[in-house]
Amino acid sequence: MYDENNIFAKIIRGEISCDKVYEDENCLFFYDINPAAKIHVLGVPKTPCIDYVDFVSKNETSIVSDFFKKTNLVIEKLGIKDDGYRLVSNSGKHGEQEVPHFHIHILGGEQLNQKKI
Ligand code: 5GP
Repeated sequence: MYDENNIFAKIIRGEISCDKVYEDENCLFFYDINPAAKIHVLGVPKTPCIDYVDFVSKNETSIVSDFFKKTNLVIEKLGIKDDGYRLVSNSGKHGEQEVPHFHIHILGGEQLNQKKI
């Protein structure tokens, strides 16, 4: 069950501040508080969803598509498209997901290490 009081739900509701990169009625992109790379941005759809599968299965294709189109826009805005970047989405226990609201990590701005897959 979705936890309405997870930290990203609070950020989406404006109860906790964040350093925004992009926001519209459907999604929010903001800098990670504990960056794992020179550029580390998190992207969240505003609709309640626990992880990737939950987001994709519960929503219309247009909402899902919009989120990934906005991810493109943010990658362009961050200026990391040409040199490259990494997109990650952790899910559940094995994925070591910390915050139970679906999010993608956008990492870049430098050479990334610890490539496992
Ligand atoms: P996960 O492990 O769930 O994929 O990643 C959660 C991410 O959220 C972590 O990288 C962590 O640093 C970030 N994070 C946790 N709390 C906050 C917060 O209050 N503000 C921001 N901007 N990022 C947070």
